[in-house]
Amino acid sequence: MSALLIRGALRLVCMDAARRELPDAWLLIEDGVVAAIGQGPAPAAARTLDASGCVVTPALVNTHHHLFQTLTRAVPAAQHATLFGWLRALYPIWGRMRPEDVTLAAAVGLAELALSGCGTCADHHYLFPDGVRLEDVIEAAGMIGLRLHAARGAMSLGESAGGLPPDALVERERDILKDFERVVAAFHDPAPGAMTRVALAPCSPFSVSEGLMRDAAILAREKGVRLHTHLAENAQDVAFSLERFGLRPGPWAESLGWTGEDVWHAHCVRLDADEIALFARTGTAVAHCPCSNCRLGAGIAPVRAMLAAGVTVGLGVDGSASNDAGALLAEARQAMLLQRAAGGPDALSARAALEMATLGGARALGRAAELGALAPGMRADVAVWDMSGLECAGAWDPTAALALCPPRRVRDLIVEGREVVRDGRLTRVDERALSERAAAAARRLAQG
Ligand SMILES: [Zn+2]
Repeated sequence: MSALLIRGALRLVCMDAARRELPDAWLLIEDGVVAAIGQGPAPAAARTLDASGCVVTPALVNTHHHLFQTLTRAVPAAQHATLFGWLRALYPIWGRMRPEDVTLAAAVGLAELALSGCGTCADHHYLFPDGVRLEDVIEAAGMIGLRLHAARGAMSLGESAGGLPPDALVERERDILKDFERVVAAFHDPAPGAMTRVALAPCSPFSVSEGLMRDAAILAREKGVRLHTHLAENAQDVAFSLERFGLRPGPWAESLGWTGEDVWHAHCVRLDADEIALFARTGTAVAHCPCSNCRLGAGIAPVRAMLAAGVTVGLGVDGSASNDAGALLAEARQAMLLQRAAGGPDALSARAALEMATLGGARALGRAAELGALAPGMRADVAVWDMSGLECAGAWDPTAALALCPPRRVRDLIVEGREVVRDGRLTRVDERALSERAAAAARRLAQG
């Protein structure tokens, strides 16, 4: 791969140990890796990208998504429900999805993320009707060019067994465990710079058994992959845990082996002080999904307290049926605004929000040694933001402006040294054709 030079950046936000922000900066990419960073006159390179008027940051990292949901945005029956009612309205629709619908939905979700500056996506896929497999999502990541952490989800506890999903949508636990082993063997790449990694991810306390949670944790450690699930999303979720297990979500997770540096939990809106201390002590990370929490009325996650305690917090857009957008930079802004609504104007700075969207996410996914920061030796996952447009015009501090008055799209996105977005357009797929195919598929799903 020939060298690529990004030069003349208004500001290069490194997110390195010193949190350097370099004016008039350049960044040289060779073989998918950041080769050098500097200011002023730049070295020669085969290809150059002029970043005048642009802020350059690490590509953002999304730590929680359900890409398949992209075909079920703004569904009327699910517009005003809380989590459990929302799920009950959507399960039957999701049950009609075919493998090609899942790939299409994932491609749309990943395209949207790419255009919002996101280079890595963790997708929690727990829906396997009619021949759907994890590779239906993995295929889409290859189409768009993003890095994927494919979390193989699972639901095993149907309505008749006291769970939430309809019996028709759950799998047998022995089949789930078998597929966990299959997808790790087939798709998990532990090497540096990996474009695909796999995690094990039973869906939630109310859709799988404790036995499956325990077995998943044992298997994940045997295989060296990470663990992911939903935890303490809202008050009902906590009540379910107390009633069924006699434990709050944090101690329940701990009792099953679901705490540690290889675990990240989505939401954690209702963690109490002891649970925050537990997460900090054990290195358990959180995927904070502020727009989804607002959309479903789950509440405001205690992010400020988590960060103060030393908990790793990344950002997630969550599934597009509960957001219903899927733009990660917008999520950073929402995270900042929510903490301020709850804790005052100094509760979370724009820079802290950007840090969660980059470094925090990389840490949550176990990739901090190679993603989430720009320094020699890091993977070349880079977002170039044009700050000369109307939406940022008049901004005094271009770094803070990314969260306070964000540009609507990234100008260029580079993942592993390859251009995924150039001049605000996807390089590998036609955006309009993709949207039209998604609209047609959604119409078909709506017809039943
Ligand atoms: Zn979720």
